[in-house]
Amino acid sequence: MGWDFETDAEFAGQLAWMRSFIDRELIPLEPIFDELPQDEWQVAKRYLQDQVKAQGLWGAFLDPELGGTGFGQLKLALMSEIIGRCMMSMTIFGVQAPDSGNMELLAHGATDGQKERWLWPNLRGEISSAFALTEPFFAGSDPTVIGTTAVSDGDEWVINGRKWFITNASVADIVLVFAETSPDGRPHHHASIFIVPAGTPGMEIVRDIGTMAHPDVAYGRPGNHAEIVFRDCRVPADHMIGRPGDGFVLAQQRLGGGRIHHAMRWLGMAQRSLDIMGERAVSRTSHGKLLAQHQMIQDYVALSHTEIQAARLLTFQTAWKVDKYGAAAVRADLGMVKAHVSKVVLAVLDRTIQVCGALGYSSDLPVEAWYRSTRFGPIGDGPDELHKSVLARTLLKEYRPVEGWPTEHIPSRRPAAEERWAQLRVGAGLG
Ligand SMILES: Cc1cc2nc3c(=O)[nH]c(=O)nc-3n(C[C@H](O)[C@H](O)[C@H](O)COP(=O)(O)OP(=O)(O)OC[C@H]3O[C@@H](n4cnc5c(N)ncnc54)[C@H](O)[C@@H]3O)c2cc1C
Repeated sequence: MGWDFETDAEFAGQLAWMRSFIDRELIPLEPIFDELPQDEWQVAKRYLQDQVKAQGLWGAFLDPELGGTGFGQLKLALMSEIIGRCMMSMTIFGVQAPDSGNMELLAHGATDGQKERWLWPNLRGEISSAFALTEPFFAGSDPTVIGTTAVSDGDEWVINGRKWFITNASVADIVLVFAETSPDGRPHHHASIFIVPAGTPGMEIVRDIGTMAHPDVAYGRPGNHAEIVFRDCRVPADHMIGRPGDGFVLAQQRLGGGRIHHAMRWLGMAQRSLDIMGERAVSRTSHGKLLAQHQMIQDYVALSHTEIQAARLLTFQTAWKVDKYGAAAVRADLGMVKAHVSKVVLAVLDRTIQVCGALGYSSDLPVEAWYRSTRFGPIGDGPDELHKSVLARTLLKEYRPVEGWPTEHIPSRRPAAEERWAQLRVGAGLG
């Protein structure tokens, strides 16, 4: 029977290197990260990325035939947990969303020529990408209905529409645009994906949108979320990824493993937050005893640890299932992980703020910023309600309706129980 929670020694060594690299090189920069001169940071970033590449840990989410390391989802889950401890690690390890998802999409759907042009440079970190699906006037949770269209005109496609919340679009070199090409193909074969290079006439980045994470957003910073208008924006025919109508299926390619990585990054952040809670609890005294000696605070610590560990195991098991059966076969589990972990991390962050009191609420600690940036979790990548609904519907397929009393109705079961007991008495030589 295979049932093993150990990490093999060689990979455990790589994880240890990751942890010490992030602790040594990245976490110390956090207090001044937003003030670093961008041009100098670009140079320093490449210097750090080269160290990651030298360890064979760069862009680890793609299979070897697609240009990655082929670690599989379970190993990626362990890596993602460490990466999640520090926001800027994602860029340094080449797993920055939305690039990572876009690369998975290109790896599956692009031609060799398109890969040469966009995938490999993206994987090498030479260009960056954005993914534009969500629109202001249609529910983003339901991509079967969108307003953006692409119409064929000679050897070009003409795109019209409006997108918003498009992460990194104001700084990306290419935007992958989800547009309707054949309304007859609704719900799942109606849209296609186009590469629109930055600066293409007709693609206007209207603004970067202020959010909970960055209410006073400064235009053109990585991590911003842009509103884009397409007005007769023309791209050559070879800028379509896949065939007309493939957009929905290709968009799904972005999401499979991504949910595992996201969840584990959240849990890495949750654990760092719990460490802050624990340190404060054993350091501060109230009403004659340490916070750590108050039972309600003990409840916060115990509950947070339990929730993190339970969520880790759920995520690891799902990662293992993806490696064994493929993402499509465990879609409901992936949604369950996303919907569950997004709540766990917020609960732990919230308790940490509470235990740290005014200090926790202040920007003197990183927790309030983590809380604000993580609040998108239950909304983004499909709202949690949708994932729970898919899970419930998947589970409910296993049940059949019964007429009258439920199968477990005790009075109805009584005659069979009495008959069984009579047989058992005979069998046991009692009469
Ligand atoms: C920080 C951030 C970054 C993002 N980055 C990108 C990006 O790079 N590219 C991109 O295309 N999009 C991006 N998005 C958009 C994101 O994917 C959408 O916000 C998400 O899919 C939800 O769509 P919506 O906002 O239109 O909400 P709506 O679809 O309008 O849903 C609103 C609410 O309705 C409820 N709801 C919806 N459907 C159901 C249902 N079936 N059952 C029960 N309740 C339901 C839920 O409570 C949901 O939160 C980003 C969003 C955020 C917050």
